[in-house]
Amino acid sequence: MAEIYDLIIIGGGPSGLTAGLYAVRGGLNAVMIEKGIIGGQVVTTADVENYPGFPEPILGPELVERMEKQAARFGLKTRTMCEASKIEIKDHLFLVEICDQKDSPLIARSVILANGNSPRLLGAAGEEKLRGRGVSYCATCDGALYRNREIVVVGGGDSALTEALFLTTYASRIHLVHRRDKFRGEKTYADRVLSHPKINVIWNSVVSSINGSDFVESVTVKNLQNSEEKTIPVDGIFIFVGLTPNTQIVKNSPHISAILSEDGYINSDQACKTKIEGLFAAGDARSGNFKQIVVACADGAIAYQSAYHYIDAFKNK
Ligand code: NAP
Repeated sequence: MAEIYDLIIIGGGPSGLTAGLYAVRGGLNAVMIEKGIIGGQVVTTADVENYPGFPEPILGPELVERMEKQAARFGLKTRTMCEASKIEIKDHLFLVEICDQKDSPLIARSVILANGNSPRLLGAAGEEKLRGRGVSYCATCDGALYRNREIVVVGGGDSALTEALFLTTYASRIHLVHRRDKFRGEKTYADRVLSHPKINVIWNSVVSSINGSDFVESVTVKNLQNSEEKTIPVDGIFIFVGLTPNTQIVKNSPHISAILSEDGYINSDQACKTKIEGLFAAGDARSGNFKQIVVACADGAIAYQSAYHYIDAFKNK
């Protein structure tokens, strides 16, 4: 007979890792499923400056590696490079289809959706064609390729600001293209960007095309106030224009699809409960969440606690 887990955690970022840590320490038979490598968006983050307990900046990959080791020390089971694609509910049990194995779903009494987000695409001409050939969404992964090169960074949120600052380690010059005349990101980062000698901010502008035959050779930028276009010769472009929730699994699953908000995030309450019994949500894919690592971790702990009480009641029925 197939094993019945107490809890399946879908997603291996900070929220999933924290839920996993609490679950194994709380004695639950839990497994965490991650479609890629463990760490979520934080793996692509350079310096993390606002996670409590680290007076000096810590690299995103190092921070999640520590979380992973901590959960592993208590015995959290994980499946990586394995996508959870569909959830069905049968007799109060969740059947989670994983790794394209339609006939042998994992079975659990409860599920925490900790799917997180992925980078939003810009939608500019040339972006798709030159992806991985000068178009990047990850400064920690690709920044070193642009040592002494000129690049464009797009966006005005915390990601664009922090990653542009990180990229100054390598690039000779950075043109930061933002569609408004004010940054959305934190003032601390904005001030540092504005005073950085390597960063040239191009306000009120969007990228109209990314040009090059095999690799990025230039980026064409359009000023939204006067419609003037100019083409800047660069070797790369880093795009940080927000995130989209990884909630395809919910859309694929008629039994649970009603938990999604209009914009594709997961509706849940303060206890991380969705309106489906036994199904919880944690982290950046939750609707209305403040998208911070510390919040994702807190969510993981709260979702665990709700799941624990649910499973306890379930077992004592
Ligand atoms: P974000 O806060 O949603 O910012 C996205 C930026 O991209 C905005 O400036 C937006 O412009 C711009 N944008 C969106 N669509 C665009 C388009 N089609 N063309 C051009 N520009 C476009 O996203 P984020 O920076 O990735 O941050 C996501 C969340 O993670 C935020 O809550 C953020 O605070 C958090 N985060 C925190 C840290 C940190 O605390 N260290 C670091 C990274 C991320 P408008 O401003 O005009 O809308």
